[in-house]
Amino acid sequence: MKRRTYYFLILVIILGLVTIRSVFKTDRREPGPPTIVRVLDGDTAVLDGGEEVRLLGIDTPELGEPFADSAAAFLAHLILRKDIRLQHDFRKRDSYGRLLAYVYIDDTLLANVVLVSEGLARVYLFPDDITNRPVIDRLIAAQRQALAANRGIWSVPVRPEDRYVGNRKTMRFHRPGCDGAVKIVPRNRIVFDTREAALYDGYSPCRTCRP
Ligand SMILES: [Zn+2]
Repeated sequence: MKRRTYYFLILVIILGLVTIRSVFKTDRREPGPPTIVRVLDGDTAVLDGGEEVRLLGIDTPELGEPFADSAAAFLAHLILRKDIRLQHDFRKRDSYGRLLAYVYIDDTLLANVVLVSEGLARVYLFPDDITNRPVIDRLIAAQRQALAANRGIWSVPVRPEDRYVGNRKTMRFHRPGCDGAVKIVPRNRIVFDTREAALYDGYSPCRTCRP
């Protein structure tokens, strides 16, 4: 056999193997469930395709606040590399383009609720966008249990007031002297005797007066 023919045959064989390999590779690629590859903080994570997901209905402590690191570490332990399912509510994305979702793990656990149960997130509702009543009820029930047990963020002492003012429309509550409290129109205004009473009903503390 001439040397050139020999090299040509080798080349054909290599090309053949590469083609066969790539065919098998494409056959194996089935669209599986999405997975989380990175956790950014207690309520934000990154999907394998690069999209960011913001967990709906909850809010975890901001960076530097007590339990912020615990919440992020817990979320990572809970959802990294697991098979997940995203369930959207009224709005699929927020103004930053992030997906807004309830994140189910192995189709059973709901990560949003688990974080609240552990006292690592508070319920954070947007009445116009968060409409899934069964999920809202689960979130509020989880918060009631975590509160009663003084778990996580609920163990952090907060300067008390003799009453608190809530806004039925936004589901936020304030210290009585907060601008946010003063501006509430009478039909949306609700007064709570204790902070716990507001939290028990699913209201979230104002980010300014931090009741
Ligand atoms: Zn306030």
